[in-house]
Amino acid sequence: MSGHSKAPARPALAVETELVVAGRDPQRFDGFVNTPIVRGSTVLSPSVADLEGHTGRYSYGRRGNPTVEGLEQALTVLEGGAGVVITPSGLSAVSIALLSVLKAGDHLLMVDTAYQPTRRVCNEHLKRFGIETTYYDPLVGAGIAELIRPNTRAIFLESPGSQSFEMQDIPAIVAAARSRGIVTLMDNTWATPLYFRPHDFGIDVSIQAGTKYISGHSDINIGTISATAPIFQHVKLTHGDLGITVAPEDAFLAARGLRTLAVRLARHQQSALTVAQWLAGRPEVLRVLHPALPDDPGHALWKRDFKGSSGLFSIILKPAPKAAVAAFLDNLALFGLGYSWGGFESLAIPFDCSSYRSATAWAPGGPGVRLHIGLEDTGDLIADLEQGLGHLRAAS
Ligand SMILES: *Cc1c(COP(=O)(O)O)cnc(C)c1O
Repeated sequence: MSGHSKAPARPALAVETELVVAGRDPQRFDGFVNTPIVRGSTVLSPSVADLEGHTGRYSYGRRGNPTVEGLEQALTVLEGGAGVVITPSGLSAVSIALLSVLKAGDHLLMVDTAYQPTRRVCNEHLKRFGIETTYYDPLVGAGIAELIRPNTRAIFLESPGSQSFEMQDIPAIVAAARSRGIVTLMDNTWATPLYFRPHDFGIDVSIQAGTKYISGHSDINIGTISATAPIFQHVKLTHGDLGITVAPEDAFLAARGLRTLAVRLARHQQSALTVAQWLAGRPEVLRVLHPALPDDPGHALWKRDFKGSSGLFSIILKPAPKAAVAAFLDNLALFGLGYSWGGFESLAIPFDCSSYRSATAWAPGGPGVRLHIGLEDTGDLIADLEQGLGHLRAAS
């Protein structure tokens, strides 16, 4: 199954076209455009010879399913690696990817600005299995070489950084890793492969919380791991041996989200830039943390390596009492207060990285608020933020 079966030989396609055609085979399903939701554990074989010879396309629900397979294939085209496995959440994609490449006695270099629950995987669980983690400054660049030990097996990146949006010098880190045979993994949820393709930059394992932009509708948790050969073999084995499966309904929703990813992301990008620029001019705002803004410290790296930016960024407010920040957020009508992001709706949360970062100090000079800009009209969103900031001022 490689896209439309009615066009077997086709030229290389633009990514927007691949998002529409990849991983679908309508003729296989009586012409229905979308791969149906196939439920099932048992798969029947026509004979003992077929059963024992594994001649069928599928053998058991846990080992492969047409709905999940279609999603894997579409994502493989998008990521450009050797293959993709689907996991039940973004966090499980992180943990399974790490378990695929690490063993007892290994050392892991983890970026200090990683998604916070990723740290618990390292600090609690990898530690239990005799794997040591060192956190590194996201701005380390080629200096990563000084942190590499003889037993360093993997370097994990996330760029821009979770909540605080520092950009990493990805080519410098990959170069240091490759010359020593160290595996690189990246959580690429923010950009998606549409705006940054990790494998094109030499990253071995590309991870996404499909919960965010792939799904795009805040209605599922799902994760994706893409890897290049030969690492993909380890990922596939670990994923299979640990018995990781995804419900076909969730795979269906993720594939449905994928078809519109390019248009949604373009709109998230444009709207987030409009709102970020407006916020940058507000007297209540100390700084906007958004690498696509020209005066952001990470802008040069973002511009060099990324093709676009998405809908998630943060602001640092000028010093204000906690109650005033709460008055701002409590009075927003269009921005929901909630975790996760990547859906059609706008969201806001207060954040403070100071309690858990260990290789860097978090002292931005005021309270942090992370915003996700959804698909609403930007005039409406700005009007909402403006009246919310009025409440901040009134409570300061
Ligand atoms: C949300 C998120 C995850 C985890 O995804 P879940 O589906 O919530 O487990 C991992 N990494 C990043 C960067 C995220 O934003």
